[in-house]
Amino acid sequence: MGYQYKCACCNQSVEAAAKTCPSCGSHAIQSPFGFWHFCILTCLGVSFAVALSDIYFKEQDDRSMGIPKVSSNILGPIQHS
Ligand SMILES: [Zn+2]
Repeated sequence: MGYQYKCACCNQSVEAAAKTCPSCGSHAIQSPFGFWHFCILTCLGVSFAVALSDIYFKEQDDRSMGIPKVSSNILGPIQHS
């Protein structure tokens, strides 16, 4: 698919090792990896952040479920007396 170096001037496909375009001699060779690496890294980063926040909020739920039980146990006798 898009794994091809291209000339920015004439949009001609260029070998990865080539520093100049063979058809127009331009030095503006565009690397396809910048865009794809950005996409992949963004996807990985987003999924990693989602997974982390999921774990974080699950821990928060566990804590917030535990705290009311403890506090009601502590406050219970005081409120009733
Ligand atoms: Zn060119």
